[in-house]
Amino acid sequence: MAPRRATRRRKPQAPYGAAHARARQELLAAFRDGQRCPRCGKPMRAWQKLDAGHVIPRMLGGGLGPLRLEHARCNRAAGARLGNAARSKRAQVAGMKAAAARKARSAKW
Ligand SMILES: [Zn+2]
Repeated sequence: MAPRRATRRRKPQAPYGAAHARARQELLAAFRDGQRCPRCGKPMRAWQKLDAGHVIPRMLGGGLGPLRLEHARCNRAAGARLGNAARSKRAQVAGMKAAAARKARSAKW
């Protein structure tokens, strides 16, 4: 049997691209320990994993911005909930999309 060639694994370092990774770095630079997570309202700590979350989810037409820091757990749980809803409740997602568009129109970033 031929020896297996070592495959180089690429780490998903910037799943949303370099611009998103930069934006996250900027948010982290401005981050103060204890700042509240916009999703759960609890303080965010420097040792916790923090994500640059999309204020309007990309899935709902939010595109690339704006971003804010949130707990990685909170951000990813919200994304999972949204994905689950999208798979099972199309009508509900259409309603969420309309609400997100209204929010985007009225918000001052
Ligand atoms: Zn949180």
